Amino acid sequence: METAHFVIVGGGTAGWLTAFITQDSARRAGLDLKISVVESSKIPTVGVGEASTAALRVFFQYFGIDEFEFFRETGATFKLGIRHHNWRRKGYTYYGPIDDPHQVVAPPPGASSDYLNIYCVAAGRKVQDMHLFGPLLERRKAPYARKADGSLIPLGPFHHAFHFDQALLGQFLKRKAKGVEIVDAVVAGVERDPESGDIAALVTDDGARLAADFFIDATGFRKRIIVQELNAPWVSYQKELPVNRALPFWLDIADGEEINNYTHAWAQEAGWIWQIPTQTRYGCGYVYSDEFRTPDEAKREVEQLLGREIEVRSDIRFQIGRLETPWMHNCLAVGLSSSFLEPLESTSIHGTIVQMMLFGARFLKHPARMTAADRADYNARVGRQVDDFRTFVNMHYMTERDDTPFWREVKAHRLHPETKERLAFWRREMPKREHFVDFLDGLPHIETQLYYPVLDGLGILDPAVAKAEMARAPSVRAFARKTVDSLVREYRQAATRAMGHAEFLAYVRDNR
Ligand SMILES: Cc1cc2nc3c(=O)[nH]c(=O)nc-3n(C[C@H](O)[C@H](O)[C@H](O)COP(=O)(O)OP(=O)(O)OC[C@H]3O[C@@H](n4cnc5c(N)ncnc54)[C@H](O)[C@@H]3O)c2cc1C
Repeated sequence: METAHFVIVGGGTAGWLTAFITQDSARRAGLDLKISVVESSKIPTVGVGEASTAALRVFFQYFGIDEFEFFRETGATFKLGIRHHNWRRKGYTYYGPIDDPHQVVAPPPGASSDYLNIYCVAAGRKVQDMHLFGPLLERRKAPYARKADGSLIPLGPFHHAFHFDQALLGQFLKRKAKGVEIVDAVVAGVERDPESGDIAALVTDDGARLAADFFIDATGFRKRIIVQELNAPWVSYQKELPVNRALPFWLDIADGEEINNYTHAWAQEAGWIWQIPTQTRYGCGYVYSDEFRTPDEAKREVEQLLGREIEVRSDIRFQIGRLETPWMHNCLAVGLSSSFLEPLESTSIHGTIVQMMLFGARFLKHPARMTAADRADYNARVGRQVDDFRTFVNMHYMTERDDTPFWREVKAHRLHPETKERLAFWRREMPKREHFVDFLDGLPHIETQLYYPVLDGLGILDPAVAKAEMARAPSVRAFARKTVDSLVREYRQAATRAMGHAEFLAYVRDNR
């Protein structure tokens, strides 16, 4: 079949990730593909979004990208998890480390997939303590140590995540995606085939016409093609995800100051503040509900908390939810044009990576051979993925807090039926991996490894249920106790050998 021409509209993180993944997937599939990215120097990228999940590291490894080069070129730092402060109640902190200890210990016969987690809950021990990243988070260390010869050695087999400068990540990916045509233009409309409804060409604001076989809408919140032209229907999560507005600002990192290796998620009176380090500054923002705060009140609240003035970088409102059909005709939407929840748990860039890897591996072919069944299948999988993100994020708001109108409202009215259903189920039976169906071909997704630290941290899991499950298999319980003891010991020791975070970053900068 002849060359297929794909046009990606949007040169933000989503557009460039898509260009990169699609180009590589086509090469692997033997598809002859020309890719163009249309981006507009007149329309800025969203300018926030600086924390990833481990999916970005999976992406780097899969595509052979050197992560040390990435550290150097995007001001990146480690993200080993999230520090949740003041969520369960004021003054209470828990960590959500992103590594999974079950990965390194073969389960004994008869053990369930999550027997170590279940043991910890039964024994009243903190789940986070048996993670390698637990003590590294508490001590703000890197997951690397120095060998006697000065070189680096990773402390475990686990994938970490990153914080980075969002603008530099886009540029980095742009440089890596070689052979992509770049067009600087504003897309102002489309021409459609009157019979099929497919898009025949994009029309730019200066009247130029850009014909192609397939179109990817990565235009951010504008949803320029998928909604403005194709009227894709929207599934709103507005009710159950209570924050809808953000006030971003930066804080400096002083010379010699240790740098957090976590995203700090700091609950406030009407939402929460994120603090995300790059190598030179903290990108921060108060993400709040504008039912409970005006932007001026939000700014005042932050300034009172920090005891200093802040320079607000913008006022971002967002629509919370997802498209019902991100793939319609010969157009597929990705990134902010497809869905957005809120920044908690950094689901957005993760979603883009996984969606495009799924599309590249399972659905990518010449557009002439793509079918309605392909579209329905992709839309169902992506819809389920984003609904799972919603339920996970929604669960973070199941807290003991009732000290402000915002927290009282959240508790009383903002839990999605699926959140309630899962919680009710997990009060009768401990969460297990088999409660999650794999619909993403094994690509990374939110499962028990992320749920446990959060549910445990919020005090939601019932130790009596965990104890009853452990009592059914005394030999598994004995094995779990021994394993957890030795993991805690081993990982505490590893943390004493680990490099400091800032020390690691200096090493990477100095050793090209
Ligand atoms: C407050 C906030 C915090 C966030 N925090 C995180 C986080 O911690 N982790 C995370 O994973 N994600 C986060 N996100 C989401 C993250 O910002 C996005 O997933 C990521 O930046 C990708 O954005 P994008 O490429 O879809 O859109 P954008 O960055 O908005 O890019 C859109 C592109 O489309 C182009 N464009 C638009 N219209 C046209 C047109 N008509 N013609 C031509 N070009 C056009 C623009 O020029 C631009 O290049 C956050 C988002 C918000 C709002």
